[in-house]
Amino acid sequence: MSANRKRMTWIAAVVVVLALVPVVAGSFTVSLLNDIGIGALVALGLVLLTGVGGATSFGQAAFVGIAAYATAWLTTTQGMSPWIGLLFALLLTGLSALAIGMLTLRLGGHFLPLSTIAWGLSIAMLFGNVDALGRHTGLSNIPPLQVAGWSLADPRSMYYLIWVVVGLACLFSHNLLQSRPGRAIRGLRGGATLLASVGADAYRVRLSLFVTAALFAGLAGWLYAHMNRFVSPSPFDVRASIEYLLMAVAGGLGQLAGALVGAALVLVLKNGLQDVLPMLTQRAGQLEAVAFAALFILLLHFARGGVMGLLRRWTHRRSGSQEPSRHEAPPVDPLPHRTLPERGSQVLSVNGAVKRFGGLVAVNDVSFDVKAGEIVGLIGPNGAGKSTMFNLLTCTLPMSAGQVRFLAHDIAGKPQREVARLGLARTFQHVKLRPHMSLLDNVALGAHSRTRSGILKAGLRLDRMEESQILQEAQRQLDRIGLGDRAHELAGSLPLGTQRILEIARALAADPVLLVLDEPAAGLRRKEKMALGDLLRKLREEGVTILIVEHDMDFVMKLVDRLVVMNFGSKLVEGVPSAVRADERVQAAYLGSVV
Ligand code: ADP
Ligand code: MG
Repeated sequence: MSANRKRMTWIAAVVVVLALVPVVAGSFTVSLLNDIGIGALVALGLVLLTGVGGATSFGQAAFVGIAAYATAWLTTTQGMSPWIGLLFALLLTGLSALAIGMLTLRLGGHFLPLSTIAWGLSIAMLFGNVDALGRHTGLSNIPPLQVAGWSLADPRSMYYLIWVVVGLACLFSHNLLQSRPGRAIRGLRGGATLLASVGADAYRVRLSLFVTAALFAGLAGWLYAHMNRFVSPSPFDVRASIEYLLMAVAGGLGQLAGALVGAALVLVLKNGLQDVLPMLTQRAGQLEAVAFAALFILLLHFARGGVMGLLRRWTHRRSGSQEPSRHEAPPVDPLPHRTLPERGSQVLSVNGAVKRFGGLVAVNDVSFDVKAGEIVGLIGPNGAGKSTMFNLLTCTLPMSAGQVRFLAHDIAGKPQREVARLGLARTFQHVKLRPHMSLLDNVALGAHSRTRSGILKAGLRLDRMEESQILQEAQRQLDRIGLGDRAHELAGSLPLGTQRILEIARALAADPVLLVLDEPAAGLRRKEKMALGDLLRKLREEGVTILIVEHDMDFVMKLVDRLVVMNFGSKLVEGVPSAVRADERVQAAYLGSVV
C-alpha cells in the first residue's frame, strides 16, 4: 500500500471511530473528548507556530480567553447571537494577535518566548479585574449554540460541531503546509537571509502565522464558552498556556496529528491524575503540576518528536519510505517569464562600494559594471572581500558607502527581498538550504516572488493552479541540474557540493535577470564541474547574466567573458581572462602559484 493510501485509511478509521463515540460512550467520555477537541485546536495552532515556524508561545491560552470572553460578553450582556459572537471573537483575537505580534515578533532569541509569558499573564489578569467581564467570578448564562433551529446545549450534539471544526482545521493546516505560504513558514527556521534572498519577508510570514495560530485558539475559545456556558479567568492563565504547549510537544511538534494525540494524552493523563492523586495526598493540585513538569522533562530527554515522532520512526523502519522520485503531474501553463534586458545593456553597476567591519575595511572603493548576457568572474585570494562584495550588491549586507545600480534602480540600502524581487537571485558560499525540506520544496521556495497565494487561499485550496505551476517549475529546474529524479529526497541528505548546485536551481526558479553565484563549484568532482560549466554557458545563451566567484582558475578562465580581480578589499585589475592571467600584479597577489 502506498504511504498516501495508508494515511487515508488511518484518517478514515479515526473519523469513523470519532463519529461512533457519542452513540456508544457515556457522557463522561463525550465530555472528555469535547475537551480534547478544543485542546487539539489550540495545539494545532502551536504545532504550526512552534513546531513548523519555530516561534515558541507560552501565551496561547490568552487568545482562547479573548475569544471566549468576547462571545460571552456579546451574547450575555448584549443579547446577540452566538454566531455574531463568533465573528466578534475571531475579529478581536485576530486584532490582538496582530498588535501583540507586531510588538514582539521582531524580538530575537529567548526574548520572544519571554514576552509571550508577559502578555499571557497580563491578559489573564485583565479578565479578573474588569467589572464588565465579571472580575474573578466571570460571566455565566452564556447561551448554547443553535444550528438551524437545533440547540447544541447537550454535550453530545456539541461533540459533533467541535470535531467537525477540528477536522476542518486539520485539513486547512495540511493544505497550508503544502503550499507557497506553507513553504515560507517551513523556511522560517534557520534565519531570515534565505527567505529574503527569494523575495519573502520573514517578519510578515511569521506575523501571519502568529495570527493564524491565534485564530485557531480563538475558535477553541468560542467553542469552549458555548459548551461550558460559563467563563472565568483561570482556564486562560499561563498555566493553561503551558498545558497547551505540553500537548503539542507530547504529541509531536513535527506533525499535525501530534496536536490530536498530544491533547488526548495530556487530558486523559490529567483526568487520571485527578482521580488518583487525591487518594495519595491532600495537595493534589500541586502534585499534578509536578507530574506534568516531569512528563515535560522526560519528553525533552527521550522523545523530542513526541508520540508521533516515535510512531513515525517505527513505521519508517518497518516499511521504509517509498516516495516517488519525481514530481509527476499533468502539465500546466508555465509561470510567466520576465523579459530579459537587451544583450549588452547595463544590468549592474557598482560604484565606489565600501564595507567596513569595525576597523577592518573588507571592501574598499570597488567599482565595476556587468552587462546583460555576460558571465563576469570575481576572483582574488581568500579574504580579498569577494563574498562581502556579493553581500553588498545583493543588499544582504548594508554598505558603508557607495552606490549600486541594478537595471533602472538604485538599490543600495534597499531591503534584500525587494532587490530579489527585481530579478537578482543568488547562492551562498555557506549553503543556505532547508535540510528537512525536500529538494523540490527547496527549489520551489525560489519561485516565491513570482507567485502570490497567501495563507487563506492556500488553506482553502484555492491556490492549486498556481501551486501546480510552482511545482512544475521546480521540477524543471531540478531536471536542469540533473537532480530531477531525486525531487522528494531531503536536501540535507545531499553531499555539500550537490547542495550548492541545488541552490542554483532555487535561484533559477526565481527567473532571474542576474544570477550571483558564490563559489558554486567548490566540492564538486571534475564531471560535475563540467556539467555546471555547460549549464552556465547555456544560461548565458538564454540571456541570463551571471556574476560568479570561483577559486578553480581553470574552470573560471574557460567560462567567463571578463574578470574582476580583488585583493585586500580593493579592485586590482579588470579585463578578459587572457589579459588578467598575464598581469604581473595578479600573479603577485596569488604568489604566482594558482594563475
Ligand atoms: P572572500 O570571500 O574574498 O574570501 P570575505 O568577503 O569573506 O572574503 O572576507 C573579507 C574580509 O572581511 C575578511 O578579512 C573577513 O574576515 C572579513 N569579514 C567578512 N565578513 C565579516 C563580518 N561579518 N564581520 C567581520 N569581518 C568580516
Ligand atoms: Mg568568500
